[in-house]
Amino acid sequence: MRVDKESDVLIVGGGCSGSLVAANLLKMAAASKRPISITLLAKERILGLGVAYGAPSLSHVLNVPSQAMSAYVEEPDHLLRWLTARGRDADPLGFIPRQWYGQYLSELVDDAEKEAVRQNPSLSFEVVHQEAIELASRANGWLVATGAGQTFSAKQVVLASGLYFHPNDRRLIRNPWRGFDPASFSKESSVALVGSGLSAVDMLLWLSDLDWKGPIAVFAKNGQMPLAHNRMSFAKKVTYDWSADWDRLQSLACLFGLARTRLSGTKLQGAPWQSLIDSFRPHTQVIWGKMDTHTRKRFLRHLQGIWDVHRHRIAPEVASRIQTLQERGFFQIKKALVTGIDQTEAKVVLRYKVLKEAPKEAESHLDLVISCMGLETNYGRVEAPLIASSLKKGLMKSGPLGKGLLALPDGHLLDALGKVQPRLFTLGFSQHGNLWESVAVPEIRSQARAIAENVLKSSVASAPEKEDHRGEGNLAL
Ligand SMILES: Cc1cc2nc3c(=O)[nH]c(=O)nc-3n(C[C@H](O)[C@H](O)[C@H](O)COP(=O)(O)OP(=O)(O)OC[C@H]3O[C@@H](n4cnc5c(N)ncnc54)[C@H](O)[C@@H]3O)c2cc1C
Repeated sequence: MRVDKESDVLIVGGGCSGSLVAANLLKMAAASKRPISITLLAKERILGLGVAYGAPSLSHVLNVPSQAMSAYVEEPDHLLRWLTARGRDADPLGFIPRQWYGQYLSELVDDAEKEAVRQNPSLSFEVVHQEAIELASRANGWLVATGAGQTFSAKQVVLASGLYFHPNDRRLIRNPWRGFDPASFSKESSVALVGSGLSAVDMLLWLSDLDWKGPIAVFAKNGQMPLAHNRMSFAKKVTYDWSADWDRLQSLACLFGLARTRLSGTKLQGAPWQSLIDSFRPHTQVIWGKMDTHTRKRFLRHLQGIWDVHRHRIAPEVASRIQTLQERGFFQIKKALVTGIDQTEAKVVLRYKVLKEAPKEAESHLDLVISCMGLETNYGRVEAPLIASSLKKGLMKSGPLGKGLLALPDGHLLDALGKVQPRLFTLGFSQHGNLWESVAVPEIRSQARAIAENVLKSSVASAPEKEDHRGEGNLAL
């Protein structure tokens, strides 16, 4: 088989996760002074932006304060220094535009590459703007075929392909972050947002920036918008050993009861409820890992809604802007369950049941419907060729409850039989089913660092290998 490029490490995906793996790897490889070749396959031209950080409006700000968004675990003030150097607002408790964060990630990889090549002339790094569409194992690593018809070979592969959405239709938007521009619609258009979480907040801000005139309805089962951060919680932290509590209680109801009791204690310490929720963060992955399938399902059915509203909070400034927009009648919230969506030539028909009213279905005819229900969590339904073909070939397996991919906490992917795939790693949202909390930068940067360390160790340990095609898998393309 013709191989166009051989590397020690191949990273698939140039969003936040892929950029953080590349930057960490370059930084560590620079210090090691050993020869290493790294290739990054990225669909998009600009690294770092991915879904989240190419946000179309400056109103789309981070929902985590700058002090917690450094790219490097070991340099917690790295982002703050980057902001200061550019004369931008470097308030550690501020919430910067996501576009700025995208620039930060992009420059991070550039800077890491320059520094790495300076320190270690036997290091090579190349970004190839192609989509990986198929993976196959070979005796000493992996083969990756791209949509441009090239084949890459690597001893180690890091899958950082990120978040998946279903494609948009003209008036039914399933992925508001790609190929959608509300400015291409008349401002008088009627709009429904389905879901009331962080994406709905972003859409409302975007429509408000455009001075939208048409009616906007937010359809949501719980009818609740995300709650706001309280800056006091960043200073007033509370600590509880929730994983030990889980070992003792083994019950969601008991843990919830304990949290209610501790809420009073938290308030007595002068800390807000947000501090209590944040005290779960170091323990959520551990508790999720200990829960059996039945308990995980019960959590998703009964507690996920309430958890999401409290856990995924927005900047206080954003929350007050949303409140003002609601009070001004810019949008209405409809506490309803959407039961179906149909499209006609000129409208989208949204069918729904208003909760607490007669179980009869009602319908609205709208010019535009934007799904704000988030991304596809079930990788069995992901249409991207790399994921679909790898699952079909048994090289990967869907994660617990169908969420993400089956992998070890250290990122090693498992095959359909549950066997560890040597030298094949993943991070970010693909770890959602295994770890639950695996989408925000504080988790991704730790995973990126650990994978970079692991990859580098294996690269150094592996002796120069002769071409060995025994056991080579097939690339269909
Ligand atoms: C709207 C939004 C706002 C967020 N805000 C915050 C926040 O404020 N703070 C925070 O901590 N977290 C936030 N997050 C969460 C988190 O930072 C993101 O989920 C994270 O950026 C995910 O990055 P990723 O690289 O894993 O995935 P993605 O952003 O999806 O990037 C993956 C990249 O890989 C490319 N790719 C995919 N498949 C292939 C392939 N086969 N070949 C080549 N390239 C491929 C894609 O085109 C994409 O560019 C937010 C998430 C979203 C969606």
